[in-house]
Amino acid sequence: MSDATDDLASKVLATARAMNTCGINRGSAGNVSARCAGGFIITPTGMAYEACTAKDMVKVGADGTVAATALRKPSSEWRFHHDIYAARPEAGAVVHTHSPFATALACQGQGVPAFHYMVARFGGADVHCAAYATFGTQELSDAIISALHGRCACLMAHHGMVVFGRDADHALELAVELETLCEQYWRVLQLGAARLLSPAEMTRVMARFATYGQQGNPLG
Ligand SMILES: [Zn+2]
Repeated sequence: MSDATDDLASKVLATARAMNTCGINRGSAGNVSARCAGGFIITPTGMAYEACTAKDMVKVGADGTVAATALRKPSSEWRFHHDIYAARPEAGAVVHTHSPFATALACQGQGVPAFHYMVARFGGADVHCAAYATFGTQELSDAIISALHGRCACLMAHHGMVVFGRDADHALELAVELETLCEQYWRVLQLGAARLLSPAEMTRVMARFATYGQQGNPLG
């Protein structure tokens, strides 16, 4: 790998470790990738991130082939990472986790409605839950791409969540934000049916996010 690719591999590994230390993932369940020239770099399958080095990260080409120099097999979920980069040119990094509150909602087939204005940070008035399909399949990837329409995050039925951002730090920040919202929504549901903001108000919030840059536009 080139120096630039080595740096990116280190960043992917650091982000995977950070995902665990900040409490949105456990063990090697989740995975992280970042776009690079000609493809993307992704965490390996079935390895504890604490035991990995940057050399264990795997480069996958834009055509879906694993680099001949790779020492490990890529994450079993490499396919949806690949398809997100192909479908969404603004995606620079992808974070996938089985974080507890997002997964609890997803196991009930629920997305996140407009119960809080910050839901708009992900690009729409709600966050969808992708239909269930077996892990690692094209069917799952297709369901995710569909649920991500107009948004940079979705839940995954009976599975977890996936988020993309402009780079690895941004994707991790958004994943933490989504898990926080899922926890808040879960707590609201303990009090009864959630009270939702109107579509008109969510449109206003999205317009303000677009204008107010740094904290606003989910990809900006
Ligand atoms: Zn998973």
